Amino acid sequence: MKYWNSTLQAMTEYLPGEQPDNIEQFIKLNTNESPFPPTPPVLEAIKNACDGSLRKYPNPNADPLRKEMASLLGGSFSENNIFVSNGSDEIFTLLFRGFIEKTGLAAFAYPSYSLYYTMAEANGINYEKVPLTDNFDYDLDLFLKKKYDLIILTSPNNPTGTSLTVKQIGDFLQKFKGLLVIDEAYVDFYGGSAVDMVLKYDNLIVTRSFSKSYSLAGLRVGLAIANPDIIQGFLKLKDSYNIDRLALAGALAALKDQKGFKYNMQMLRNNKEYLEERLEALGFEIVPSKGNFVFTKHASFPSEKLYLELKERMILIRYFKGDIQNQYVRISVGSMQEIKKLIEEIGEIIG
Ligand code: PMP
Repeated sequence: MKYWNSTLQAMTEYLPGEQPDNIEQFIKLNTNESPFPPTPPVLEAIKNACDGSLRKYPNPNADPLRKEMASLLGGSFSENNIFVSNGSDEIFTLLFRGFIEKTGLAAFAYPSYSLYYTMAEANGINYEKVPLTDNFDYDLDLFLKKKYDLIILTSPNNPTGTSLTVKQIGDFLQKFKGLLVIDEAYVDFYGGSAVDMVLKYDNLIVTRSFSKSYSLAGLRVGLAIANPDIIQGFLKLKDSYNIDRLALAGALAALKDQKGFKYNMQMLRNNKEYLEERLEALGFEIVPSKGNFVFTKHASFPSEKLYLELKERMILIRYFKGDIQNQYVRISVGSMQEIKKLIEEIGEIIG
């Protein structure tokens, strides 16, 4: 820590889902990745991009992907509404680095995606954690009690899976005059995006990820969708070539393969329904989720013990230490085979 500045020394680090050395031997249901591989056209596009042209830098702003996303969104969206990031995580770093004054105040829900807290701290931005209700819903009035400069709302929320309706977000935008970010990393599974309101409100940023619904967590691509002025800010602030050639090729092919994408969304929903049914039959209480994961606890079996026992049996699920989260586990929706194995093991563990 000798050469760390005081901000770095004081900040709490983000703890990603664990990845033991022998991770390939585990059933991995702890980081909400897709259980399905990228679709064949996506893998082919990445392989095709793997040639001598890798000696050259990529397109600095990933323009082909910006154009494709704009046309997918339709309406009057253009590439000037789209910023391509190195995973959606990069967007949060840039927000705190360049869109809020050091004297500003941010707000995020609690519990929510803890990277926001980490990135705010890393950039010396003060923030408050606004609690969700006892049912893990948002109480948006609480976010209006103070004059926040930046609010990030996660819909569907991680780890709870609960989400906001488009109407709730619209009503909130009528009243909130700071910068509002809706993190839609999980929106593709059940829909309900706020993205169209970007055309109406210049203080709205919607973020998306290729890591979950597009099965490309390993490629690191995310998107911010906002008015052109905000997008210009992101482009000015980002690293010079933040999207590599392979990532650009893969993400572009993924957007183009909407048939494969929709098929995977349907399969994921089917698997989730099955997982929920089986868990309920075993005595689990499940928070209604619109993500590719469930936040759940057993009526009597302690969550931490369940997590540890499943790990012994080579199945990783997520257990968080926080004071509300520690009563629950978060389980990503796996393949049918993975879910069956999980249910079998849980059945044995809880007897
Ligand atoms: N937002 C939320 C709510 C998430 O759960 C995650 C992934 N853990 C991300 C953003 C980051 O996704 P990406 O892989 O695109 O950086």
